[in-house]
Amino acid sequence: MPERDEMSQFWSDHVHALEPYVPGEQPKEDVLIKLNTNEHAYGPSPRALSAIQQAATDDLRLYPTPGSDVLVQAIATTQRVDPTQVFVGNSSDEVLAHIFNGLLRRANQPLWLPDITYSFYKTYCRFNAIAPHYVALNARFEIQPSDYMEAQKSGAAGIIFANPNAPTGHYLDLDAIAEILQANAGIPVIVDEAYIDFGGISAAKLLAEHANLVVTRTFSKGYALAGLRVGYALGNTEIITGLQRVKDSFNSYPLDRLAQVGAAAAMADTAYYEKVNQQVIENRAYLHQGLEQLGYDVLPSKANFVFARPLQQGAKEVFLALRAQGILVRYFDQPRINQYLRITVGTRAQCEALLEAIKKATI
Ligand SMILES: *Cc1c(COP(=O)(O)O)cnc(C)c1O
Repeated sequence: MPERDEMSQFWSDHVHALEPYVPGEQPKEDVLIKLNTNEHAYGPSPRALSAIQQAATDDLRLYPTPGSDVLVQAIATTQRVDPTQVFVGNSSDEVLAHIFNGLLRRANQPLWLPDITYSFYKTYCRFNAIAPHYVALNARFEIQPSDYMEAQKSGAAGIIFANPNAPTGHYLDLDAIAEILQANAGIPVIVDEAYIDFGGISAAKLLAEHANLVVTRTFSKGYALAGLRVGYALGNTEIITGLQRVKDSFNSYPLDRLAQVGAAAAMADTAYYEKVNQQVIENRAYLHQGLEQLGYDVLPSKANFVFARPLQQGAKEVFLALRAQGILVRYFDQPRINQYLRITVGTRAQCEALLEAIKKATI
């Protein structure tokens, strides 16, 4: 970080202390295979694309509906909740930003979260002056519900984790999540389900019984629409009303017209997504097995990526060797996980090419 006196005198005070999130690289040069940011191996629903094309009309001179009503109704129907329990935003990152601001920002109350999880949570903590309280994953990188039983009692503002977790891929079943909710019934518990469409069961089922639950979802991963930027949260009506107050103090029209119709059309095309997500699940099993055969320790994953540790070589060395062959994966140079690679599950051909490239890198 540059010295303070090199920083702009024009910034607001708090900007000096921010630690911005660093997303996986979106390369400009030629990369043969991009497996570093968990985008979907297959494209979005053709119906979603045609809905977007049909909405590209003169009507774009008009503002969209501020509440994204058609999309909210589509989500409510699919998730079997009331529309007043749905909050949509321009990506789940934005939804999470509003959740941190509107639900988790409390004086002198820390937010409980795993030590290894989606690193944007730490950035949002900084942005909102929330103190993070890190709870260590166990040796197999699993969240243990028993570690969260005392959160509320000890004064936590709330709890957040991803399920399946990132970048580990570990999935917690609904009984375990219910235990955490039950023990912390007076504080919000946020379950980030960015990767739930690859074989997990959504905690949305628990909403009726747990008023403190907030589930966040995105169209970026399971719906192959990372470029459209649509995410949402499900929660009880009071919680959602609070988020709307924050949103309407920030941006009244977070979702443009194309995003609203595209996401709604995608949601309606369940047959398409069942097919392509099943394909990703099969490719994941293939990749998992292939990596094990090459001597990798591979954690079980319910996401569209695997988290794997080369046993013969350093992870960074493999990362660089793959990059030299035009294949991008994700490497995190941080304690506990700097011997692992996070590899997005690509098409079958991409998985094969990756395994071949690893073989070459190993010789
Ligand atoms: C990708 C991801 C998100 C962000 O999704 P967007 O809707 O694209 O902002 C949120 N949480 C986790 C755990 C993710 O991996």
